[in-house]
Amino acid sequence: MSIQNLAILGATGAIGCNTLEVVALHPDRYRIFALTAHGNVARLREQCQRFQPHFAVVGSEAAAVELRIGLTSATEVLWGPEALEAMARHPDVDVVMAAIVGAAGLASTLAAALAGKRILLANKEALVIAGAILMDAIKTSGAVLLPVDSEHNAVFQSLPREQSAGLHALGVKKITLTASGGPFLNRPLSDLALVTADEACKHPNWVMGRKISVDSATMMNKGLELIEACWLFNAAPAQIDIVIHPQSIIHSMVAYADGSVIAQLGCPDMRTPIAHALAYPERIESGVPALDLAAVGSLHFKALDSTRFPCVTLARRAISEGGTAPAILNAANEIAVAAFLGGELRFDQIPRVIEAVMDAVFVEEGATLAAVLAADAHSRIIARSVIEGVGR
Ligand code: NAD
Ligand code: MG
Repeated sequence: MSIQNLAILGATGAIGCNTLEVVALHPDRYRIFALTAHGNVARLREQCQRFQPHFAVVGSEAAAVELRIGLTSATEVLWGPEALEAMARHPDVDVVMAAIVGAAGLASTLAAALAGKRILLANKEALVIAGAILMDAIKTSGAVLLPVDSEHNAVFQSLPREQSAGLHALGVKKITLTASGGPFLNRPLSDLALVTADEACKHPNWVMGRKISVDSATMMNKGLELIEACWLFNAAPAQIDIVIHPQSIIHSMVAYADGSVIAQLGCPDMRTPIAHALAYPERIESGVPALDLAAVGSLHFKALDSTRFPCVTLARRAISEGGTAPAILNAANEIAVAAFLGGELRFDQIPRVIEAVMDAVFVEEGATLAAVLAADAHSRIIARSVIEGVGR
C-alpha cells in the first residue's frame, strides 16, 4: 500500500490530537501533509515540530507570524479560511480529517467533498446544517465519507459493507444511538439552573472539546447525531431511536427484520473510530486497550427523559421541518453554548434560547448553500438578541 497524505483540519482539538496519536503508530501508512488550527499556536507548533507537515494553517495573520517562530522551512505557514479550504482540496492530499468544531468547519468539509477526497467526518455540525448539499457533493465527486463520531462509526460497522441499496433492502428495522446521558443524568432537575461550565464539561466517559461537552450535557449532541445519522444512512427520523447507556461501551446498534441486533462495543476512546475510519476496510492498531467486560461488570439502559433533555425534541422538530431548520437549530445552539461557557446564560436556559430562535426564524424549504449560510448568520443574530433579553 502506498503512503497516504493526510490533512487534519482542527488538529489541536481533542479529535485532532487523537488522530495524531493513531497516525504516530503507523508511519509506514500515513504522512501528515497539513495541520490546521484556529488559535492554539503553542500546541500546533509542537505538532509541527513532531510531524513536520508541508503546511500549517492558522486563523489569523498574527497567529501565523507567531507560529513561524521555531519552525523549520519544512513547514510553510498559511492563514485564513481560504488557506484552510485549499488544504482540504489540495491535489496531494488523499485523506481529510474534518475535525473543526461547529459551522466553522462547513466550508472546508465541503471543499474536501467537492474535490473527491476520502473524508473522515468528526465535524457533525457540517452535516447537520448542510446535509443535502454535502451528500450531493460526495455523490457527484466520488468522495468517500467515513463517520468518526463513535455512534455513527458503530452503526456503519453494524451495517453490511455494501450499503447503497438502502436500509429497507438491507432488512434494517431500526438504528439505535446510545447516549451516556452526560454529567447531569441523575442531577435533580432543579439543580440544572445552577450548574457551572466546568461541571458541564466534566463528561463521565469521554474527554472532548468544551462545546461538544456542553452539547453532551444538554444532550443536544444526541439531537445533532440524530440528524447526522439521517444523512449518513439515508434514514427517516422515525427509524432512529435513542437509548441512554451510561457506560458508553455499546457505541450504537442496528436492529434487523429477523429480530437480530448487531452492535459495536469497545472502550470509550475516540482512537477506535478514528483508526477504523483511517484504515477502512482494513483494521489497524489504535493504541486503545482491549475491552474487559468482566471489569466493566454490567451494562445499563434507560429510556430518554425528554423533560430533562428537551434539546433532543428540538432536534427532532428541526429535521422534520427540514430545509434550513437544522441550520437554525445549530446556529442557535452554538451561540447559546458559547454564552453559557462565557457565563452569560444559565445551563437550563440553553434549550429555551434555541426554541425561541426556532420559533422566530423563518424556515426556507430549499436548503441551498446560500440559504443555509443566510439562516446560520441570521439565527446567530436572533440568538444573541434572545440572550440579551433573557439576561435583563
Ligand atoms: P475541540 O474544541 O477540542 O477542537 C476544535 C478544533 O477546531 C481545534 O483545533 C480548533 O483550533 C479548531 N477550530 C475552532 N474554531 C475554528 C474556526 N473558526 N476555524 C478553524 N478552525 C477552528 O473540539 P473536538 O472535541 O475535537 O471536536 C471537533 C469536532 O468533532 C466537533 O464537531 C465535535 O462535535 C466532533 N466530535 C468530537 C468528539 C470528541 O470525542 N471530542 C466525538 C465525536 C465528534
Ligand atoms: Mg458521538
